[in-house]
Amino acid sequence: MARYTGPSCRLCRREGRKLFLKGDRCTSDKCALVKREGAPGQHGTSRKKVEEYGRQLREKQTAKRYYGVQERQFRKYYDKAEKKQGITGENLLIQLETRLDNVVYRMGMASSHKEARQLVLHAHFCLNGKKVNIPSMLVKPGDVVSLKEGSRDSAKIKDLIERMQTAVIPKWLDVDKTNVKAKVVSMPERDDIDFEFNEQLIVELYSK
Ligand code: SF4
Repeated sequence: MARYTGPSCRLCRREGRKLFLKGDRCTSDKCALVKREGAPGQHGTSRKKVEEYGRQLREKQTAKRYYGVQERQFRKYYDKAEKKQGITGENLLIQLETRLDNVVYRMGMASSHKEARQLVLHAHFCLNGKKVNIPSMLVKPGDVVSLKEGSRDSAKIKDLIERMQTAVIPKWLDVDKTNVKAKVVSMPERDDIDFEFNEQLIVELYSK
């Protein structure tokens, strides 16, 4: 299925919660969810009780949209999570957290996952010193994500570095804000993920 290119806010309205897809706008009073409640479409506000399947589906869609992942890839993450030891739902979220684009987002270099994805696609980052442009690459403890030499010169990147200085960094990353470098010190834990997911609903959906 093709990547969704429509209005980001529509996705939040569909899920009925903030997915933080538009950077700083999401925390301002310009956020569409603050201005207008309800799902998109003329019947949005009159939606009846959401059934069990609906809740499971919505939770899966929320996670996909929050991390900007396509259905097929999301399903692959799930299958891998299921095979791993531990709690499947947590394994799934931890994999999503360790995507390269998410690391760029968590280190404060992007105001949204979408922006982080763009930065990686445009090869502004290196993984362990090698230029990379695949947002879905997964990092592991010991890996170092750094801004590519030469990328610092662009005005946009300069703004992002400025922005990064005030970012709150999760404890699984050790970020050198001066050199725009993040070392993965450990795998993220469930508590490190500050977005409220009910991952058990996703597990229930895929276990049917
Ligand atoms: Fe979602 Fe951000 Fe749009 Fe608000 S501003 S509806 S959080 S994308």
